[in-house]
Amino acid sequence: MIPFLDLQAINHSFGQPLIDAATQTIRSGWYLHGNETAAFEAEWGEYCGAPYVIGVGNGLDALRLTLQAWKIMLNWEDGDEVIVPANTFIATPLAVSQVGLKPVFCEVNFSNALIRTDSSYLKTLLTPRTRCIIPVHLYGQLANLTEIYRFAQRHLLQVLEDACQAHGARSIYNNNVRTCAYSFYPGKNLGALGDGGCVTTHDGELAALVRNLANYGQTEKYIHDYKGINSRLDELQAAILRVKLRRLDADNRRRQQIAQFYAEQFAAEQPAAVQDGTHVYHVYPYLAKDRTRLQQHLQTCGVQTQIHYPVPCHQQKAYADAESVSLPAVEYWCSHELSLPISPVLTDEQAEHVVKSVQSFQI
Ligand SMILES: *Cc1c(COP(=O)(O)O)cnc(C)c1O
Repeated sequence: MIPFLDLQAINHSFGQPLIDAATQTIRSGWYLHGNETAAFEAEWGEYCGAPYVIGVGNGLDALRLTLQAWKIMLNWEDGDEVIVPANTFIATPLAVSQVGLKPVFCEVNFSNALIRTDSSYLKTLLTPRTRCIIPVHLYGQLANLTEIYRFAQRHLLQVLEDACQAHGARSIYNNNVRTCAYSFYPGKNLGALGDGGCVTTHDGELAALVRNLANYGQTEKYIHDYKGINSRLDELQAAILRVKLRRLDADNRRRQQIAQFYAEQFAAEQPAAVQDGTHVYHVYPYLAKDRTRLQQHLQTCGVQTQIHYPVPCHQQKAYADAESVSLPAVEYWCSHELSLPISPVLTDEQAEHVVKSVQSFQI
């Protein structure tokens, strides 16, 4: 069986350095707010070209702490609106809801499942209460930053990039005058051995407030200016991430190699992804005509697959209270997408077996 994602093999491939990092942290006697977390924040900032990095507990917290900070800084009110693509992991809209803002679900491109950024479309979503837009760099590919930031600037919106699937999809767009949320969930391209996340930003004031809110809203010991939360990237995870970060670019290149092989083999029937070298293929999406049967067929061939995502956010029961909208491209992706195995430890033979198995499927 070719597993969808072999986390054991991935983490095993880091060998002794990963074990040493854990051992040293265990022996250090210091487990939170210490040198490993500070060092990882500095290294991740250097890697991304971001002046400020705040380690937090997970990707959801990275998103909601940023939104909560802006809400305070910019005097947003409860019920103010945030534009969110509807084919994303539920964490994206949940972050919006959990800080009292309202997600406005929007459409994506048929070609790549990324948020639609043509201003003629985005304008139709604007109301006097629109405050922010969250492009999700879905599957590891960057949304159209030029168009998003141009639109946001024109309409005075904040932009929060959900980069939870796009570690290493680097773009120095606008000299990195950007704010991104990352998750280090074990299955991400840069994954911890537990939960983790961070915010990267160019904005020192935002960074300070996010750090404060993540630490109980504490400005100095036992003095609390805000109703914050407890959200920490711990020392053990930071130490693990520092080891794994050294190999992130190489791992992403291997993912790109596999993706290129898949794309060549499926060229006849699949839309081509952008080839500017930034796509880091957290997920390799295959659009299937008969997904249920293809998934069963692949299972019989020993190929494990997943679906990202079977139910779009705007059709989740959790969002039954949201305005009902029709989002054809989102719904198309949600009913046809099948994620094929891709990872830094997938071998050429395994990739060939995946392709043969897909090609042997008869509708
Ligand atoms: C993984 C993910 C998140 C949430 O990350 P957690 O660390 O699980 O909270 C948010 N958005 C997207 C797009 C994700 O893929």
